[in-house]
Amino acid sequence: MIAADFDYARPSSLREALGLLERPGAVPLAGGQSLLPLLADRSVVADLLVDIGRLAELRRVARDRDWLVIGAGATLAAVMTAEAAKPVPLLAEALRSVGSAAIRNRGTLVGNLVSASPNSELSVAMVALDARFVLRHRTGDREVAAADFFLGPHRTVLTAGELVTELRIASPTASRALGGFAEVSVRAGAPPLCCVAVVLAVDETAAITDVRVAAGGITGAPARWHEAEAALRGHPLSENVARLAQCGEPSLVLSLDLPEAAYARDVLPVLTRRAVAAAATRFIPNPQPGIQP
Ligand SMILES: Cc1cc2nc3c(=O)[nH]c(=O)nc-3n(C[C@H](O)[C@H](O)[C@H](O)COP(=O)(O)OP(=O)(O)OC[C@H]3O[C@@H](n4cnc5c(N)ncnc54)[C@H](O)[C@@H]3O)c2cc1C
Repeated sequence: MIAADFDYARPSSLREALGLLERPGAVPLAGGQSLLPLLADRSVVADLLVDIGRLAELRRVARDRDWLVIGAGATLAAVMTAEAAKPVPLLAEALRSVGSAAIRNRGTLVGNLVSASPNSELSVAMVALDARFVLRHRTGDREVAAADFFLGPHRTVLTAGELVTELRIASPTASRALGGFAEVSVRAGAPPLCCVAVVLAVDETAAITDVRVAAGGITGAPARWHEAEAALRGHPLSENVARLAQCGEPSLVLSLDLPEAAYARDVLPVLTRRAVAAAATRFIPNPQPGIQP
């Protein structure tokens, strides 16, 4: 099919973009990797595309005091290779599994997250990392935790005229924070059937003091597996297999929109074990400050 007619605007500032997005039927365009196919098959109809992909002010990937800041215009490839993102290796690990180099060169991290694909590796990583989304409307800013940003398949808390301007991920303050990622997909580069990201804080004896386990492909939005977190917390990292075995069947409610959700829930324990094991390989008894998941 051919997309319905639309107007196109390339604003030269964020302020101008926000003004344009006030118009009825205006939709932001970043790398176009998700949006353009949706316009072509008319599952999305727009009156005006507001191209924010070339706004230099949205492109940064930088350290800002205690935060890693990723602008909405930063491509997946730029985030993967940015020096500032190196202290959070979980990000690059999850990014490697996303699409192909061609997709990563054009597509943005924020565009991926706003698309809210229910099994995206990146949404899951953001929830495990407890990332913050900075949202801007012409009338003001708000900050939303990743766990609250996703409402369901392809649905987020964004309202009309609102843009995500940047993501903020806490920089390592505790030096013994570890991250791991695991997924299963039908082929390399395809969206996963299920994926798991784990972020752990451990003490000098490798006992787990805090943990977040996030999973995709099951409930329709990235979900925390709280039973696993409770089973792991307070116990040595080396006991993770035995501790996870005690969790029983995950109580996460299957999404009716995901035909593979029951399979995803079945493989969740295995992927969680692998993600924790990947994190455990990063444990260094006496680390340099500043290395995180
Ligand atoms: C072949 C292929 C394979 C893929 N494989 C995977 C995979 O394995 N895993 C995975 O997770 N993803 C995968 N993807 C998805 C890919 O990561 C996304 O298409 C891409 O990152 C979207 O970014 P974009 O900049 O192109 O967004 P666009 O297509 O420009 O926009 C996507 C949506 O986000 C909105 N938007 C964009 N920026 C903003 C903003 N700043 N504020 C508010 N709204 C905004 C747009 O209006 C649109 O609704 C794949 C895509 C393709 C085409």
